[in-house]
Amino acid sequence: MTIVRVAPTQERDVDLSRTYDAVVVGSGAAGGMAAHVLTSQGMHVLLLEAGKKVPVEQELRSMEWPYEHPRRGEMPPGYHAIRHNEYTVRQPPYAAKSAFKHVFSYVGGWGGSDYVKNILVDEKDHPYTGTRYAWVRARLLGGKTNIWGRLALRLSDYDFKGKTHDGYGEDWPISYADVAPYYDKVDTYLGISGHNENLPHLPDSLFQRPNKLTAAEVMLRKSLAGMGRVLTPYRAGVTTDGVKNKYRSKCFGRGACGRRPGGCDIHAAFDSPTGLIYPAMDTGNLTLRTNSIAHEVLVDRNTGKARGVSFVDSQNHRTYEAKAKVVILAASTLESARLLLLSKSRQYPNGIGNSSGHVGHNFCEHVMGPGVTGMVKDLVGRAPSLDDGKPGGFYVPRFRNLQDRQSGFVRGYGFEGGSGFSIFPDGAWDTPGFGGQFKKTVREHAGAFIGMGGFGEVLARYENYMDLDPETKDRWGIPVLRFHYQFGDNEKKMCEDMATTAKEMFEQAGIEIVGVDKEMLTEGWSIHELGTARMGTDPKTSVLNQFQQSHDVRNLFVVDGSSHVSASCQNPTWTIMALAWRSCEHLAAEFKRGNL
Ligand SMILES: Cc1cc2nc3c(=O)[nH]c(=O)nc-3n(C[C@H](O)[C@H](O)[C@H](O)COP(=O)(O)OP(=O)(O)OC[C@H]3O[C@@H](n4cnc5c(N)ncnc54)[C@H](O)[C@@H]3O)c2cc1C
Ligand code: SF4
Repeated sequence: MTIVRVAPTQERDVDLSRTYDAVVVGSGAAGGMAAHVLTSQGMHVLLLEAGKKVPVEQELRSMEWPYEHPRRGEMPPGYHAIRHNEYTVRQPPYAAKSAFKHVFSYVGGWGGSDYVKNILVDEKDHPYTGTRYAWVRARLLGGKTNIWGRLALRLSDYDFKGKTHDGYGEDWPISYADVAPYYDKVDTYLGISGHNENLPHLPDSLFQRPNKLTAAEVMLRKSLAGMGRVLTPYRAGVTTDGVKNKYRSKCFGRGACGRRPGGCDIHAAFDSPTGLIYPAMDTGNLTLRTNSIAHEVLVDRNTGKARGVSFVDSQNHRTYEAKAKVVILAASTLESARLLLLSKSRQYPNGIGNSSGHVGHNFCEHVMGPGVTGMVKDLVGRAPSLDDGKPGGFYVPRFRNLQDRQSGFVRGYGFEGGSGFSIFPDGAWDTPGFGGQFKKTVREHAGAFIGMGGFGEVLARYENYMDLDPETKDRWGIPVLRFHYQFGDNEKKMCEDMATTAKEMFEQAGIEIVGVDKEMLTEGWSIHELGTARMGTDPKTSVLNQFQQSHDVRNLFVVDGSSHVSASCQNPTWTIMALAWRSCEHLAAEFKRGNL
């Protein structure tokens, strides 16, 4: 077993007197991909990242057992993660009146919260206002990819051409055939594990070795096949066979990424720094400046083109300018929209790239909550096995509104699930009793549980939007986002159906139902925020063209999830990267032709 730990290349000095070919804002999945593609095309790129460079291996400590940590992995006193109930009974800014010194989003409340306290943002410094929303942010080199859940799925023409299929919303200005070659490139460069299923609505990737299903999962897979549905091993953005990248090792199935709030300290799971940014630095074409909070895209008064970015140093609070011939925003869906809206000038009084008035609008994501927990009686009492020693469990792809038309809602949902023995025995909290008998019952049943929860498409609607709060500012004096967003009737009906079908699938498989969740979780819970600067062919109703290039400002690109026209029900990160690759290849070609 080889575990690679290679230090990144020596960073190049930042030269703010120079005009770079391109400045990229944000270093997560989107920004990392932009840096990778543009530097490999020979462009000189400055990457601005608002957060710190965190020694992430030291934070994650994946090999640490719970008993080796003084608080079994929990955060120290004075630290608090917002609970589900707080999101539902209070209004943002959630941390404003909190007695705790540090407040984090709900992800900080997952097991092992101490491991992410320097990865998630402190809500005290980063408020937002408006309607309720569980906003999860990670401000550090690599952004949320340091702790993402790794489920790496493709979209299909059921998504890209959703309006053609069911009449709702808008089609994307591209189809699956346009993106497929770039999905292939992402698969090959970063590695993805999974199993071919040949489904038109969930295209296969170029898979490396899949994770093994457990006995309960095999049983459910067989039963679902009889219902015309599929259960497939978790399609993980993880290299199981290895990739050509000296900063990454292949997965050796410790399961640490699933037992804690995410993260893989040997970088078998994709993260942007080791997967994209360090290799880009090795080209000699990438300059990185962390602690750099972009707050305005600067405009050339004569040409109306972007001329760079103004940013605040998060440590000394001073403002600087970075000059570049092309500006690429990749600060994540909501932060990129905030940046566009913040960039008001004489030429662009509503914010740069916003002649359509659509920036901040058409926000969409996934709705979560409904799901089912069951028990396979035949598995009670079996000898323990390492069931969670892998980067994920299983996925049940969408089956609604494909060939059929479901009454009550459009679009669909999929389920993520897992089963078997885990580091903390499933069912322990709900098992009655105490003492020796209690322990025996918990041990006997621990490997027999199976559960899954739905992720449904939230429809993109113009009236779901974010704007700038006229009063509230963050710690650096930058106006914050104000949410005007809530789930609609389609999401509610879809969630009712999710709970019903989840139960029905377990019953059909002969799995004893232990619990059915029907409640919808708060808006934002999926951490799959999308929309706000959508692509389209009509500059009056869209912000970007098919290459994520501003209709208004030709040397301005927004390459993250803000460009997505609809949410699909498939997790977005692999699509974010495939699209960023496609757009940046186009950008580099246009740059060389002198068209930007
Ligand atoms: C716990 C968790 C589980 C997840 N599970 C999955 C999953 O299973 N599958 C999936 O597809 N997705 C998953 N996601 C979502 C996934 O992480 C995101 O889709 C992906 O990271 C988005 O990439 P991004 O580059 O747009 O944003 P980010 O990764 O958030 O990166 C944005 C970067 O921009 C920086 N930035 C922000 N504002 C500024 C500014 N003003 N100036 C400079 N820099 C700025 C941020 O600090 C950050 O580093 C999960 C996320 C979390 C947190
Ligand atoms: S299971 Fe694989 S991807 Fe997950 S932490 Fe372990 S080595 Fe990393």
